[in-house]
Amino acid sequence: MAFADVQNLALRRGIYFPTAEIYADAPAGFFEYGPEGTRIKQRLIRFWRKTLVENEGLLEIDGSIVLPEPVFRASGHLENFADPLVTCTKCHTPYRADKLIEEMLKEEIPEGASMEFFDSKIAELKLVCTKCKSPLGKTQRFNMMMKTHVGTTGTIPGYLKPESCQNIFLDFSRIWKSGRVTLPFGIAQVGKTFRNEIAPRQALLRARELEQMDVEVFFNPAKINEIDRWEEVKDYALRLYLLRDKEIHSISCEEAVEQGIVSGKLIAYYLARTQQFAEKLNIPLESMRFRELEAEARAFYAKETWDFEVLLDDTWLELAACNYRSDHDLKTHAEVSKTDLQVKEEGVTEKFYPHIFEISMGVGRTFTAMLNATLKKEVRGQEERWNLDLPVSVAPYHVGVFPLMKKDGLYEKAFEIFQQLQNANASALFDEKGSIGKRYARIDEIGVPYAITVDYETMDENHENYNTITLRDRNSMQQKRVSIEDLEEVFWNFSTGKRSFEDLEE
Ligand SMILES: [Zn+2]
Repeated sequence: MAFADVQNLALRRGIYFPTAEIYADAPAGFFEYGPEGTRIKQRLIRFWRKTLVENEGLLEIDGSIVLPEPVFRASGHLENFADPLVTCTKCHTPYRADKLIEEMLKEEIPEGASMEFFDSKIAELKLVCTKCKSPLGKTQRFNMMMKTHVGTTGTIPGYLKPESCQNIFLDFSRIWKSGRVTLPFGIAQVGKTFRNEIAPRQALLRARELEQMDVEVFFNPAKINEIDRWEEVKDYALRLYLLRDKEIHSISCEEAVEQGIVSGKLIAYYLARTQQFAEKLNIPLESMRFRELEAEARAFYAKETWDFEVLLDDTWLELAACNYRSDHDLKTHAEVSKTDLQVKEEGVTEKFYPHIFEISMGVGRTFTAMLNATLKKEVRGQEERWNLDLPVSVAPYHVGVFPLMKKDGLYEKAFEIFQQLQNANASALFDEKGSIGKRYARIDEIGVPYAITVDYETMDENHENYNTITLRDRNSMQQKRVSIEDLEEVFWNFSTGKRSFEDLEE
């Protein structure tokens, strides 16, 4: 569906909405996840952890949000984490100069463009304030880090971290010294990050407080082609948008390495895992790609960068940055902190800085892209039906449990089944309000894949359907009778992917 439909659904169902929305002067770019949004987001993070962290044998940390100033001196954020700001000379509305020009030209401005470049483009294109049509001032660099003060004197500066990876670089040495690890190994972190965006927009897509799921893989560059589980991905086709012809190509991991499109097997391996993760969220393959970034668009230290992008309303949205960061991070932190961060591998005489490959994925963006890809509208006569086709792994609940009526013991029987499922670790939602059709509609649009209805046949000792319920499948709207005593096993099989609705007998 369109992004606007996702926004409407989000507000209608309280999936996410602006922070402090009852206050007219609350700043933009901050969002709350409501009850159902929180469940979906937590399941998305849990699924990322299961698929990309635990199944890959990576370690996870949970680091501080506030980090001291020297960290950002080393990382370059103090100096370089800035966007070009241009302000209306009359009404003082702030704009991002690059976005303003990009919208006009419909082409991307390289990240390293100078302030003079923006001023001359603004003059050339005769750009003015979109609100009051007055002239715009000179372009300035605006640092997007949010600063805070630590301690009682207010003299110790701290910063809310603008990206999730720095803790991982800082913690590398202690984890290495713990002796549990050998190269290559990865450290993951999920957590909040903060960017004082000049012009936040499109809800979770460009917010000031955001969340990131980060993976940093440390490896010996001489062994970039030594990957244990290579067989699992070597024939898997990556969708690579290449600079050479600006087209998307389906290229197997093995070919990508052989043709020198990626620097080595380790890179291809993690690109494959990233694309497979998105596929498992029901995002269609044809609407995703890895975009190769030209040297000017990459961070200066990056040897190779692929932006993992998904189509949203005909424009490509970046979900994850996949960066070969070389030895830049450990080296600069070693220099600024005056700490030795080099390692010595067994059987190798020389000490060296491990290289890093990073997959940094935005939670809000992945959440939005997933909703956008799975939201479907069906029109039947006068009726509109919204169906959110979330996979079981990220659905807010596995099943809704409904009594057909509130009387004649149906309510009590349904509630008993609800509790039985909850105790068996299936996540169930109980709803007895409104017509059964309305209750189905309510759970369809928040992505609950199944519904159980307790009806009069369930209760009738003389009926062949005694002690069975109807189980309804969200996508096909088909119904099957299932014995109450089989339910726990049925949902266990659904949630582990061992069986699906189609496997059940009619
Ligand atoms: Zn103005």
